[in-house]
Amino acid sequence: MSLALTICGLSKTYPNGVRALSNVSLSIPTGMFGLLGPNGAGKSTLMRTLATLQDADAGSAHIRANGSDGSGAPAGDLDVLREKAAVRRILGYLPQDFGVYPKVSAEDMLDHLARLKGIVPRSVRRDVVAGLLRQTNLYDVRKKALGGFSGGMRQRFGIAQALIGNPRLVIVDEPTAGLDPEERVRFHNLLAEIGENVIVILSTHIVSDVSDLCAEMAIIDKGRVLLTGRPLELTRRLDGRVFQKVIARSDLAAARAAWPVISTRLVAGRTLVNVVSDAPLAEGFVAVAPTLEDVYFAAIAGRLDVAERALEPA
Ligand code: ADP
Repeated sequence: MSLALTICGLSKTYPNGVRALSNVSLSIPTGMFGLLGPNGAGKSTLMRTLATLQDADAGSAHIRANGSDGSGAPAGDLDVLREKAAVRRILGYLPQDFGVYPKVSAEDMLDHLARLKGIVPRSVRRDVVAGLLRQTNLYDVRKKALGGFSGGMRQRFGIAQALIGNPRLVIVDEPTAGLDPEERVRFHNLLAEIGENVIVILSTHIVSDVSDLCAEMAIIDKGRVLLTGRPLELTRRLDGRVFQKVIARSDLAAARAAWPVISTRLVAGRTLVNVVSDAPLAEGFVAVAPTLEDVYFAAIAGRLDVAERALEPA
């Protein structure tokens, strides 16, 4: 069975006047979907709405299932914004601000959460909890109080609790923020192992989370969807259109004024500027192979017109 989540025209303005979502439409297939955007883009608002924790002002979201796998999961159509109880039965959610009870052990907490999810027989629960602890590599520390967990262990525990009851829709909101590189790799491996027949939405501001893991993605900023597609195809659209140059730090403002700069970064104490342009640039620029980071920064900088022209027939 395959699932698809279709979001249509979702909008949300908070009482303070912030328009967090503006006519958001997305088609999210089975597999790992990356929702990439800077802080304040509206990612958490969208995640919380899909997780039935808050209401949108307008728009719709439906999960459609094709065929049946005999798992008891709903076939047909689920109205995500209205059929909240049914959505919660198939949902696994790791919120951005995932708090834990510091004095409770990982095993006891998972057991408690599994009971809340309706896994009543004790022996079944014991097996489910042990399986999740092994899957997230927390079995050896299962008796340890959650308050003593490192950031990486805590996020793996967060995935363990999200996977209770074999969810079909898994939402993880900024799960790798604050993890060190080793923990991030470990967490990526864990996410990559989640079942094939599941929709996983990974919200993040970290480009490598998406390039490492996601077959499909969207970039959002200021509540709007800027771009959707497959990371490799989106990157290919910028082929031959990204140019790079080393400049002095003191020349940064002049460079921004002179060229369509999408990003700057320091490498070994030198300032590298990346520029997107239809035509090759002189003045010391060299063409570089585009990366998903270039796509992201071009989108945020409002320079997607260059990628779009790449698609037009010559
Ligand atoms: P992201 O997850 O991409 O960082 P959010 O969805 O958290 O974005 O926030 C989008 C915008 O909505 C931001 O400007 C944020 O300050 C605002 N916002 C988020 N939650 C609330 C709220 N409960 N009340 C008012 N404004 C909010």
